[in-house]
Amino acid sequence: YRVKYAPFKNEKNNIVGVIIVFQDITEQHKLDNMRREFVANVSHELKTPITTIKSYTETLIENEDLDEELSNRFLMVIDGECDRMARIVRDLLQLSNMDYNKTKWKKIDIDVEKLLREACMKLDLSFKEKNHSLIIDMQEDLPNVVGDKDGIEQVILNILSNAIKYTPENGEIYVTVNRVENDVVINIKDNGIGIPEKDRERIFERFYRVDKARSRDLGGTGLGLSIAKQIIEAHNGRIVLSSEYNMGTEVDIVLPIGTRV
Ligand code: ADP
Repeated sequence: YRVKYAPFKNEKNNIVGVIIVFQDITEQHKLDNMRREFVANVSHELKTPITTIKSYTETLIENEDLDEELSNRFLMVIDGECDRMARIVRDLLQLSNMDYNKTKWKKIDIDVEKLLREACMKLDLSFKEKNHSLIIDMQEDLPNVVGDKDGIEQVILNILSNAIKYTPENGEIYVTVNRVENDVVINIKDNGIGIPEKDRERIFERFYRVDKARSRDLGGTGLGLSIAKQIIEAHNGRIVLSSEYNMGTEVDIVLPIGTRV
């Protein structure tokens, strides 16, 4: 709280009381802290690949006679780190565009079943690589939802690839779609590593990750869930995550049917 006070005087200028104002500045404080934390996170996320690129490049420059195999390995690392920076910047730009309402949504009727099957096909290789089984169960005669096809597809791909990434080999991933009242609910469930309770409520924050090193190794930016949430909220829907540590994670993507928004 910020406290301000002033004497309260009567017509004879005698002090007869004190006025005290308590101003709640916790919200403002929280926002300031979040902004500072975000800038620190962005700087750190970009600094790591830059340091790596710099040291590998220097080694290449200083050692002209490095054998070809080794120098190729160095170049591959540099290439990978450039890709990482490009992903971070791409995700940040997308978030910033949404923050400033600059994203042009092209809202059309979407056949959710078709979109989901296409998304699963796109990830077919990732499923096979980890030998996961994919079990799809969709209610018949689902109503269409109105939305931006690329946006909704991005959300589905994101949640599905998290399920693939954070589930050890030979896992099971269930995708179910149902109409619940005036919503279409896409449920994506895995039996993977799960999310500890202490991390659960912060998991949609930008750059928040349970295990930074693991996420980085898997090519993550820590921005996927915050992007997904923002896209779904721009469609008047919501994302609900529940998880049990070491048991698995379940995500509901809830999208309203019917009217164009
Ligand atoms: P990342 O790029 O790190 O995957 P996300 O924003 O998509 O970023 O997810 C944030 C963090 O949430 C991940 O780093 C991971 O710790 C956790 N997470 C997301 N989905 C799952 C899941 N299905 N199972 C376990 N942990 C998950």
